[in-house]
Amino acid sequence: MNKPLILVIEDDKAVRTLITTTLKAHDYRFVEAISGEAAILAATSYNPDILLLDLGLPDMDGVEIISRVRTWSNMPIIVISARCEDADKICALDAGADDYLTKPFSVDELLARLRVTQRRLAIMNTDTSGSEFVNGNLRIDYAAGCAYLGGEEMHLTPIEYKLLCLLSQNTGKVLTHTFITQKIWGNAWENNIASLRVFMATLRKKLESAPDSPQYIQTHVGVGYRMMKL
Ligand code: CA
Repeated sequence: MNKPLILVIEDDKAVRTLITTTLKAHDYRFVEAISGEAAILAATSYNPDILLLDLGLPDMDGVEIISRVRTWSNMPIIVISARCEDADKICALDAGADDYLTKPFSVDELLARLRVTQRRLAIMNTDTSGSEFVNGNLRIDYAAGCAYLGGEEMHLTPIEYKLLCLLSQNTGKVLTHTFITQKIWGNAWENNIASLRVFMATLRKKLESAPDSPQYIQTHVGVGYRMMKL
């Protein structure tokens, strides 16, 4: 498999060097941009597979880059930021980022996030018009509206099923509470976010062999949930 081309957007030279050295050591191809304008230009001219994006840039907020890229591309965007408030992560994810890393980060963590994103890319590049989703022991037949675990049909409520479909269709991507509740209920009222936790707990009881250490659905405390590719 061809290593993806990664656009590294970072104005801090030390962090940029850490990232590019890591990428080079693992045979990733990359291009660099040190400002928002340069990043937009590079994103359009190189058409990279993955964006690694710092939010604090000299000329532009990284969230604006996400919004602008999302007007024409679904390329995975991993935010790398010193901002560690949940509100900042949520803002970036809601603008269309796929994942985030908080500085300081470890090289292993960066590589792990890149692997998750590459699996997401592989899913995006396979035919998504198919009506079946398979991940580990989980199989969803979207056309029939049924989910199976280890060959057994799961008995899900309509909301649990909708939730499972939404997460499966975005495997590898962190979905915020707001995004999920908007998709499921059409709005993001506070009591819907509370309901989401309840439905997630009942879904996990049916899906996970050990609901306290889930394999399929990862919790991002204060932020949202993500379906992992098994
Ligand atoms: Ca910066």
